[in-house]
Amino acid sequence: LRARLLDRQAQRESAARTYARSLPVAPVSAAGARVTGADGRAYLDCLSGAGTLALGHNHPDVVAALQEALGSGAPLHALDMITPQKDAFSGELLRRLPGTLRDNAKLHFCSPAGTDAVEAALKLARNATGRQGVFAFTGAYHGMTLGASSVSGPGRMRRGSAAFGPAEAQPVTRLPYPYGYRCPFGVGADRAGELSAHLMESYVTDPSSGVGTPAAVILEVVQGEGGVVPGPDAWLREVRRITAEHGILLIVDEVQTGIGRTGDFWACERAGITPDILVTSKAVGGGLPLALIAYRPDLDTWQPGDHTGTFRGNTLAMVAGEVTLRTVAEQQLAERAAKLGERLRAGLRELATEHPQIAEVRGRGLMIGAELVDPAAEPDARGSLPGDPAFARALQAACLEHGLILELGGRGDSVLRLLPPLVLTDEEADSVLHRIADALAGDAE
Ligand code: PMP
Repeated sequence: LRARLLDRQAQRESAARTYARSLPVAPVSAAGARVTGADGRAYLDCLSGAGTLALGHNHPDVVAALQEALGSGAPLHALDMITPQKDAFSGELLRRLPGTLRDNAKLHFCSPAGTDAVEAALKLARNATGRQGVFAFTGAYHGMTLGASSVSGPGRMRRGSAAFGPAEAQPVTRLPYPYGYRCPFGVGADRAGELSAHLMESYVTDPSSGVGTPAAVILEVVQGEGGVVPGPDAWLREVRRITAEHGILLIVDEVQTGIGRTGDFWACERAGITPDILVTSKAVGGGLPLALIAYRPDLDTWQPGDHTGTFRGNTLAMVAGEVTLRTVAEQQLAERAAKLGERLRAGLRELATEHPQIAEVRGRGLMIGAELVDPAAEPDARGSLPGDPAFARALQAACLEHGLILELGGRGDSVLRLLPPLVLTDEEADSVLHRIADALAGDAE
């Protein structure tokens, strides 16, 4: 059955399909972190809808709330009109926002994908500042629409747009993200953060740089698709200082990091910074499509109709989102993610002592990455080894054979990425490690 489903869909679907190719599972049922495929095989899901399912598949509270909403006669879809479900969701979200945005931000509901919320953030920043330029980072991923892809990449992250001509929808200045393993300055993540921030400030303040003051800086606190690269707290604080001092809006893209994933409700909270515009999607809709920006109220310079879209107010997404936000907060699942993440990283580091292909294990909370390299290759001047995408693909496939769904990412597709649901149990976490160990052992044979 699995083979038939996969073959038929390969005929029907776009050549751009991705997970269907790298993870040929055909899931038919799921609960928590467990997925059953059409062939009856059981899997542990360390992808959870690309980080969407904070509470895992079919969490009973989410299912009950959805069933109640479905039976209540509530309109399934009401464009961006106000519904009781939207009111409840908005109140819950506002209560959970970071810093000065809490109970104070303006919310702008978007077409329900992270990429459209990024578009909204970029448009709002231009509108509110009257400036056009944006500072973005190497290795960033913000989405596939033209504006969002113009602030992503370069490299794999912009592969989609490269063939369609220049993605630059606005003047974008790219700064090095403080990535320790392949450090752009050869000095390690902390010092790279200082240098990157210094470069940012000199672009703004030194007229001979020819750059000037942008409308916004957009960043991920932990780069996800870019290979699970956490930005140092001191760097984030410095970027916040520079942007505040020069009237530049700081857009923090929490599409992947938000809702407890990194061990804080929002990843930016650990560094104690508050963005001017926060972008959220994925887990905020509890597994249903939802995306929005939350921003400083004085930035609310939109005119009615400035950034619209048909599917901005899906009732069921509001319902699932509200339950998810409340449950993550009440059950302290961010704290749980922090603890479980430590456990998984410690286990992976132990595996790294036996498997030199694992050069670095990093991440925050349940956003975990393992840098996979070719240990036989020559290290570069900084002592880092080249990535090994072929090994990474083979390991992903071997993990799948051992019943483990996980994803790759990173600049060269050679970072193994784990994004399990925050409700993963301790036993499941151990089982994840055993399965990776078995996959590695099999590969080494
Ligand atoms: N921003 C970040 C940080 C992301 O990780 C993603 C998706 N991986 C996006 C934006 C785009 O979201 P979507 O795929 O829903 O458009």
